Amino acid sequence: MRDFSVDHRWLSLNTATVRKQGDLTQIIEACARHGIRAIDPWRDQVASVGLDRAVRAARDAGLELSGYCRGGMFASDAAHRGEVRDDNRRCIDEARALGAPCIVLVVGGLPQYSRPGSVVSKDIGAARAQVDEALAEMLDYAREASMPLAIEPLHPAYAADRACVNTTRQALDICDRLDPQRTGALGVALDVYHIWWDPEVLSQIARAGQERLLAFHVCDWLVPTKDILNDRGMMGDGVIEIKRLRAAVEAVGFGGYSEIEIFSNDWWGRPMDEVLKTCIARHRTVV
Ligand code: ZN
Repeated sequence: MRDFSVDHRWLSLNTATVRKQGDLTQIIEACARHGIRAIDPWRDQVASVGLDRAVRAARDAGLELSGYCRGGMFASDAAHRGEVRDDNRRCIDEARALGAPCIVLVVGGLPQYSRPGSVVSKDIGAARAQVDEALAEMLDYAREASMPLAIEPLHPAYAADRACVNTTRQALDICDRLDPQRTGALGVALDVYHIWWDPEVLSQIARAGQERLLAFHVCDWLVPTKDILNDRGMMGDGVIEIKRLRAAVEAVGFGGYSEIEIFSNDWWGRPMDEVLKTCIARHRTVV
C-alpha cells in the first residue's frame, strides 16, 4: 500500500467539494496554490466557465484529471431516449477535450427522477434493464472515442432518484455482461461513502481486479447523517475504515488518485483554503 503520509501527490479533488466557494477557474487556482495535482470536475462547473476556458485553465495549472463527473441518468421513457443518448455523447466529447481518463457514471433511478418529464414508473426492474440498454449504446460511442466508462454504484438510499445500481456486485455484473473481455472500456468508480457498509465489498473489489477499477473516491459517513445527499463527512470524522478499503483496491493493482468528494453543507460554508488544507492533512493521516 502506498505511503500517503509524506506528501499528497495522489490526492485528487472532486471539484464539487468546494463548488459553493468559487467557480472552476478559482478552484483550479486554489489547487495550484496547494500543490494538488489532479481534479475531477463536474459538467455544470465546466459549462459555467466554458469548455475551452476549463481545458486551458487545467492545462496551464498542470493539472491532471482523475475522472469527469458525470454521465448516465439512463432510465427514461421512450420520448426521452434521444435526450439520454445525445447528452451522454456530449459528455464523452467534453471528457476527451479535458483529457479525462474516464467518465464517472451515475446511472439514474426511476425514469421520472432520472430524466424529469418522463412518464412516472415504480418499476425498478425495468429501470435497471434500461440502464443496461442505454449504457450499451453509450459504450459503443465511448469505445470509438477511447473513453473508459466507470459505473459508480450508489448507496441504496439513492435507488429511486439517482442510481438503481447499488452494489459493487451489481456494477461488476453489468461490466461482465457488456464487456466480457475486460477490455478496460468499462469498469467501476468505487466511492467509500457508497460501498463501506456492503458485506461483500472486499470480495467484490478482488473480483473487479485492476482492469475494472477506474476510480476511487473518499469522504466519510457521519453518524448521525443529517442529509443523505449533502452531509458527507471529511475523512476521519466518521465511521468508514478508509485505509482498509484503499488497501483492498491497491492489493489488486489500483495505482490511481484517491479522489476527495465531499458534498457537505458544513464544508461548503467554510473558506476554500481551509477546506483544501484540511483535505490534505486528512489525506496524509487517515486516507
Ligand atoms: Zn463518488
